[in-house]
Amino acid sequence: MLKKRKIILAFVCLFVIGGVLYGTNYSIKKHNQSVQTIKINQQNKTLSSAAKNKEIQEEATLSKVAKKKEEEDKIAKQSEAIKLKKASVIKAAAQKSKAKKEATAVKTEAIKASAVKTDEYKKSSNGASKKVVVIDPGHASISSSVKEPEAPGSSIMKVKEPGGAQGINSRTPEYVVNMAVAVKLRSLLQAKGYTVIMTKTQNSLMLGNIARAEVGNKAKADLVIRIHADSNNNTSAKGASMLVPSDTKNTNAIYNTSKSYGETVFKSLVSDVGMNNRGVMQRDDMTGFNWSKVPVILVEMGFLSNVSEDKLLNTNAYQAKIANGLADGIYNALK
Ligand SMILES: [Zn+2]
Repeated sequence: MLKKRKIILAFVCLFVIGGVLYGTNYSIKKHNQSVQTIKINQQNKTLSSAAKNKEIQEEATLSKVAKKKEEEDKIAKQSEAIKLKKASVIKAAAQKSKAKKEATAVKTEAIKASAVKTDEYKKSSNGASKKVVVIDPGHASISSSVKEPEAPGSSIMKVKEPGGAQGINSRTPEYVVNMAVAVKLRSLLQAKGYTVIMTKTQNSLMLGNIARAEVGNKAKADLVIRIHADSNNNTSAKGASMLVPSDTKNTNAIYNTSKSYGETVFKSLVSDVGMNNRGVMQRDDMTGFNWSKVPVILVEMGFLSNVSEDKLLNTNAYQAKIANGLADGIYNALK
């Protein structure tokens, strides 16, 4: 019986010890588990915080990238706008330059055309080195009421020789002054080597305008210069003017050259003599122009109706000054 008790006690003891051991083991396990859980939690927390940080960083990076892209887009847009602006400016400049080129081309063409016209005259003249100038002293001492057509085929009839102006104080007839200057001009031009033909050397010779134009045509003159003095009811009017043919069907062939010569001769005259400049005027109503086949100009040297110019035009010195200015101008025109 005792032995049986001892065995039961031993079993109880074993059971108790086993229970204690198991309990201890369980609580260690539990503790370890809880430590592990805490660790995992902490890790998770760390991880999540890291992830969050990363996310924030990524977001920040993304926003930075987006911002950068936006800026780049902006710059690209701006540069595009600048490009477009530049292109339009370049286009406008190109158009302007094109227009300018075209205008220059037209001008060059016009100059060429006028040069061709001038060349035709040079070829048709009596040799380039021996140029012919016809001097036509205006008016005659005899007037004539006989009429002649103002232009070839025209029904407008004009008196052949109505007589010229007269000095307001000197009473000198215009033809006297005209002839005095014409003769001086002839000497100056001959000295320069020109062949000079006068339409007349005597004041009493009354030819009319058509016959005098024919002198220039027959001579195939390089230039016909008609010499006159002016008159006006307004006695304060003074100074010189140059008349040239306007562009009509009769004068088209001589229009450009006559205008150019007239401008050149007048420029020299006014600057040499220093008189009042009344300009170059185109006329379609002058018989002497309309019948001319060669370049023709007409100078009005001053006003015999003006007291001071009447006085000047009657002096040898002033007549010589005018002749000199005309000779310089003809030289400049025909060179
Ligand atoms: Zn006259």
